[in-house]
Amino acid sequence: MKHVVIAGGGFAGVSLARQLKSQKDITVTIINKSSDFRYYPALYRAATGLKLGTARLPLEWMLIDTPRTKLVIDTVAKIDPAHKTINTLSGQKISYDYAVIALGSVTTYFNIQGLPENSYGIKSPDEIIKLRTHLHDKISQKSDADENYVIVGAGPTGAELAGGLGVYVKLITKKHKIKKHRVKIWLVEAGPRILPQLSEEAARAVHKRLNKLGVNILVSTTVSKETVHTLSTSSGIIKTNTVIWTAGTANNPFFEQNSQYFNLNPKGRVIVNKHLQVQDNIYVIGDNAATPNSGLAITAVRHAKFVADDLVAHLKKKKRPKKYESSGVQVIPVGKGWAVLQFKNFVISGRLISLVRIAADYIGYSDVLGKLKAFTVWSNTEKSEEDCDTCNKSS
Ligand SMILES: Cc1cc2nc3c(=O)[nH]c(=O)nc-3n(C[C@H](O)[C@H](O)[C@H](O)COP(=O)(O)OP(=O)(O)OC[C@H]3O[C@@H](n4cnc5c(N)ncnc54)[C@H](O)[C@@H]3O)c2cc1C
Repeated sequence: MKHVVIAGGGFAGVSLARQLKSQKDITVTIINKSSDFRYYPALYRAATGLKLGTARLPLEWMLIDTPRTKLVIDTVAKIDPAHKTINTLSGQKISYDYAVIALGSVTTYFNIQGLPENSYGIKSPDEIIKLRTHLHDKISQKSDADENYVIVGAGPTGAELAGGLGVYVKLITKKHKIKKHRVKIWLVEAGPRILPQLSEEAARAVHKRLNKLGVNILVSTTVSKETVHTLSTSSGIIKTNTVIWTAGTANNPFFEQNSQYFNLNPKGRVIVNKHLQVQDNIYVIGDNAATPNSGLAITAVRHAKFVADDLVAHLKKKKRPKKYESSGVQVIPVGKGWAVLQFKNFVISGRLISLVRIAADYIGYSDVLGKLKAFTVWSNTEKSEEDCDTCNKSS
């Protein structure tokens, strides 16, 4: 029996455990710092009034049908390759035959004054609840309702959120019976164009779509300071109480803390070999690994499938898969009933693609839940949910 220890129960970690579930000669331990899994692609939807339960899933439930998999709730602190152990913050020492590190990324504020205290995030269920409460509280105070809502960072998350936020804010305003209230959505990006991860053609299509939805886009604009009521940028000061920060993503601090075992690229991601390894029995996957298209859930799942095949082949002394190859399909929804798809140089957008995205979400849930459980969650993704009494009464 071989023991695979997976550090991180996110997209990469959970899909790997699921991939290995039929291997009777492998036991798996997943170490995750919380008991919940975050389905990130559904988080921004929850920020705009859809069900939070589709973005926060109990890991124990997700892994109920994976025999030989143990879940440990703890924070991974250290790896000791010489003794093949992983140490946790609470003092556990867990031995492995193979270690797979998949700890995901963290938010960074680039030391910009006022951002950590005053901005809102959409990277965790707690952040979503805080943002939703803030939006409803401000609007219910009527005279204090914001006119400007600013999203900083025009990557896929920022663009998707910008597409949905205006409609949501207008809906809350209506439910709170505020008349003639102007709502302006701003999307601020430091680079010269939105969606630097996508081709110029795909980014142009999204830019046009956001303009059509009334979003004000500021490119080549850096943020220098935030106070409770203002955001200072290189294009001027915006009066706002609502800044949503989606711009700063950094690799997990675990790699800096264990820097003797990992080589990092200039973006801080871990350089891996063609088998996604840093040494014979240590794999690094998901957002942590420096591969093309890292930073996407679909890439994390693809890494997991590759590592499962590689591990099994290695263990059974069969021919290992030649090398990891990325796929690169991206589908980004912007507002209801519209999405853009990019595959290599091919770009297509429109209503039909938004259906592709809905189908892709089912596949995404299946990768981490299995088909049946995925269906129960996926069928709730378009359902709305409010914590505000006024909004609930008027719906
Ligand atoms: C708001 C948002 C929306 C997104 N939308 C999309 C999308 O639409 N499509 C898409 O393809 N991608 C999307 N992404 C990106 C995608 O979610 C990530 O690429 C994906 O989650 C990476 O998977 P992972 O397994 O590497 O990391 P994660 O899924 O982040 O999992 C890492 C896990 O490790 C745990 N962890 C972290 N540190 C420790 C520690 N020290 N000890 C123990 N556990 C730890 C975390 O709690 C987490 O459970 C989005 C990301 C965000 C933030």
